[in-house]
Order: sequence, then structure tokens, then C-alpha cells
Amino acid sequence: MRLLPILGSEQPATALLDGRLRDSHNRTITDLRLSVTDRCNYRCVYCRTGEEGAQYSELPIVDYTRILRVFVSLGIEKIRLTGGEPLLRQGLLDLIRETAQLRPAFSDAPLDIALTTNGHLLAPLARLLREAGLSRITVSMDAVDPETFTRITRVPGSFERVRDGIRAAQDAGLGPVKVNCVLMRGFNDSQIEAFAEFSRNEGVIVRFIEFMPLEEGRTWAPETVIPMEEIVTRLNAVRPLVELPPNHISETARRFTFEDGRGEIGIIAPVSRPFCGHCSRVRLTSDGKVRTCLFSQSDHDLIGLMHRGASDEDMRSWIHRVIERKEARHHIGEPGFLKPSRSMVHIGG
Ligand code: SAM
Repeated sequence: MRLLPILGSEQPATALLDGRLRDSHNRTITDLRLSVTDRCNYRCVYCRTGEEGAQYSELPIVDYTRILRVFVSLGIEKIRLTGGEPLLRQGLLDLIRETAQLRPAFSDAPLDIALTTNGHLLAPLARLLREAGLSRITVSMDAVDPETFTRITRVPGSFERVRDGIRAAQDAGLGPVKVNCVLMRGFNDSQIEAFAEFSRNEGVIVRFIEFMPLEEGRTWAPETVIPMEEIVTRLNAVRPLVELPPNHISETARRFTFEDGRGEIGIIAPVSRPFCGHCSRVRLTSDGKVRTCLFSQSDHDLIGLMHRGASDEDMRSWIHRVIERKEARHHIGEPGFLKPSRSMVHIGG
């Protein structure tokens, strides 16, 4: 069955001219985040209420594989697998193996395949992930003090598990591992200096991320966000920081090392210093919906289109039109700000 009405009589989008995904704000979309499940084995207090489990379905791995193939043919160069907790997903290694066969359509560089995980199940899987074709890994970790860590994740013994996972990933050739920490005032901001030491001792890139209003419950308030300037001042007091150049134009982190060159800190400040103007991202939820912004009020039903018999070419045209309407920016902190229609764990971080 073909889908004529959806593709109907609209004029061709400007983005169709060279096949790359471009939005109406002239941003080229090269980065896809795919959530492979919204189940999670942690119940981090700032992310989840602790009561709800998965809310959305998962697609068979072959469906994700097809969707990724279509997106890569449209100029996606980086794929980040996420969730929920992606290491809970059966078939993840097969998905990585299949994805590693794809080649970017407009670049000679190999496809960059990354994974974001809480690290709890990582130690025994790290080598298999690498062998399957994973390029790099980011581990979320919101404290380096074991007790604080357990208070956040609500899972006893979690700090040691995650730390061992990070070490295993480095041994497997997935380093330098990035460690993402969401900072919240009065909660884990006491950890800033200890994280600097962790970066220096473990050889990981620590990235502090501002807390965004994306939680299942209602914990976010402007006062809980630790802005970039404050983090820089605190780190400088321990040891002078030296700023590093961005790796690329759509780099979301301001990068720093210390004056002796040991350790690397990134600060990602979507609230106090939004980077929407350089956004190169699109997201696919575990149940096959395209989201053009973390803060979108609605999503776009790609899997519905696919199940109604769309060809790859139909899907390409549809994706072009969806991307063209990508939001200009988020409105965090502005009057009338509306929380997005899904929380982080159900979108894919
Ligand atoms: N389970 C995986 C993990 O822990 O990395 C992937 C999913 S998790 C939702 C992805 C990232 O989103 C984590 O680093 C988490 O700390 C972050 N996150 C969750 N809620 C957030 C919020 N409200 N603001 C900023 N980051 C958030």
C-alpha cells in the first residue's frame, strides 16, 4: 500500500535539493539519537518519579536498522544509541553490528556510533560492544562519592559497578570515556572538585551538564541549575583551568584542562548558554517517533508511516519535511514555557 496523501502536492522542500537534511533555519542535521528502550534499571531521583516503568513500546531491531539506513542516506554522520538504559535492550549488539556496515552519504569518514549508558551493566559488555563496532561511549555518573551516588540512583552498590564499567570500557579501546554529570544545587554540587580529581586519576573526560526541565516529576526550578560560570570559578580555585578549542562547530561543551594538562572537563550549559543555533540533532524514540527538539510538544509518527507500507524513498521525503519544521530553539526559563510532551527517559538522552 502506498501513502499518497502524506506526500501529496506540497512543493519540494529546499533541503531536497542536495539530499541533506536541512531545516528552515539553515541548520544541517547530521546527528541522530536513537532510543532503543525507555526501560531503565536506575531510578535517578532527578529523572524519574520511581513509580513508573516503561511507558512506550520498543521496535524490533530490524525496524531500527531500516530507519537508521534511511537516515544515514540523508546525511546522518553520528548515531548515538540511548534510552532508557540501552544495555538492557536485547539485540543491541546486532543493531551495532548492522549499523557499523553503513557509510555516511556525504562524508568519507566512517559512521560515528556512540552509546550513552548508566554503566551498571557495562563491565562484561564493553569488549563485545567494541567488537560489534561501537566507536565511543558516554557514561552518566552524578557523584563520585558512593553514598551520594546510591542516594541518586536508588540502587545499592551502583558506584563501584559503574566505575568498573568505565575502566572496562577504557581497557576495551572505547576511551577516552566521557562521564556526564548533571549538577543540581544542594544535591550533588559538593562533588564538583572531586569530579576534577576523578578526571585526572581515571583519564576520563568529565562533562558537567546543567539540569533541564525534563524530569518525570516536578523537581526543576531555576535555582537548582548550577550555571557554567560558577563551575568554572570553583574549579579554578582548585587548580587553574586552561580553555581548549571546540572540537567542531556544533560542539555543545566548553572544554577545559588544568594548567598541567592532566584531566579534561567539559561544561554543557543548555540553560544558561543555549546552543540551539548550532543544533545538528534529531531524535527517534524507542517507539519509532521522530522528535526534532528535546522540548518538542509533539512527535512525528515515522513507524506509523513505515507500517503503512512506505518505501525508503517515501520515508526520506517525509523526514525532509519533518526536519524542515524543526523548532528554532527551546524556551527554558521564559514566561509560558511548557514542559515537553515526554520526559528525558522516555525521549532518549
Ligand atoms: N540510561 C542512560 C544513561 O544513564 O546515560 C541513557 C539515558 S539517560 C536519560 C541520558 C542522560 O540524560 C543521563 O546522563 C542523565 O543524567 C541525563 N538527564 C536525565 N534527566 C535530565 C535532566 N532533567 N536534565 C539534564 N540531563 C538529564
